[in-house]
Amino acid sequence: MKIARFAHRGDAGIGVVDGDQVADLRGLASTSEGIPALLAGGAAAVDKLRKAATSAPKLALADVTLLAPIPRPPKFLAIGLNYRDHIAETNMEAPPFPVFFNKQTTCVIGPGEAIHRPRVSSWLDYEGELGIVIGRRCRHVPLERAHEVIAGYLVVNDVTVRDWQLRTPTMTIGKSFDTHGPIGPWIVTADEIPDPQALGIRTWVNGELLQNGSTKDMVYDCAQQIEHLSTAFTLEPGDIISTGTPAGVGFVRKPPVLLKAGDVVRVEVERVGVLENPVIEEPADTAVI
Ligand code: MG
Repeated sequence: MKIARFAHRGDAGIGVVDGDQVADLRGLASTSEGIPALLAGGAAAVDKLRKAATSAPKLALADVTLLAPIPRPPKFLAIGLNYRDHIAETNMEAPPFPVFFNKQTTCVIGPGEAIHRPRVSSWLDYEGELGIVIGRRCRHVPLERAHEVIAGYLVVNDVTVRDWQLRTPTMTIGKSFDTHGPIGPWIVTADEIPDPQALGIRTWVNGELLQNGSTKDMVYDCAQQIEHLSTAFTLEPGDIISTGTPAGVGFVRKPPVLLKAGDVVRVEVERVGVLENPVIEEPADTAVI
């Protein structure tokens, strides 16, 4: 099942996408608080959504605007240097432990929304990734039970301002500029992804294929990431874990491929979906004071 957030005639809500249609579940009480609250209801709530979708009114997918499925996730974590070919292209050593950082949740945008080329840097880069959506509150999750806490998956573009990223060991600022967390186009529930370590992952910029990897090449697989993170802290419904990017990012290419206004970035994760975002100059009116 593909759980989406969408807007139609100025009213946003949750729906279930099937082919070229969206089952409109804005009237269903369990959807009113958003997807994290829905997921917190567990398998019963997801089953109820599935049943409700069969009889709900349908809208044409072309007539709605898909939104970020979780506009403000409780946590937005991401792992760095998690594909061997990406480690090699950056001339870095494979880290002895998983290297996680936070993307500030204010960076989240949805499908089709514009990524800003910030005023302060031209080193704007893409990273196509598989994102895990946590489905239940959990801590100290053993490897063999990690699948139980995964509600589903989405596509992430871990947009990065490279010079700001590399200035500090936490990477947080360079990974968190506003608009630099595109997610979507929906959440595919885990039952549709029997093996998250066997998915093609591809990124195009302006139609040119620049990343072409497979999640089988992760250094730390999805279960290991959940086990590791939950050793330290509680994971909650709606938390997003972006699982790393394969080779082909822009800043190590010769010559470098840096995103600029007018570009379109398209990330596809097999069985999950396609996430496409245009790039614009940071608008003049982004100051909030
Ligand atoms: Mg990344």
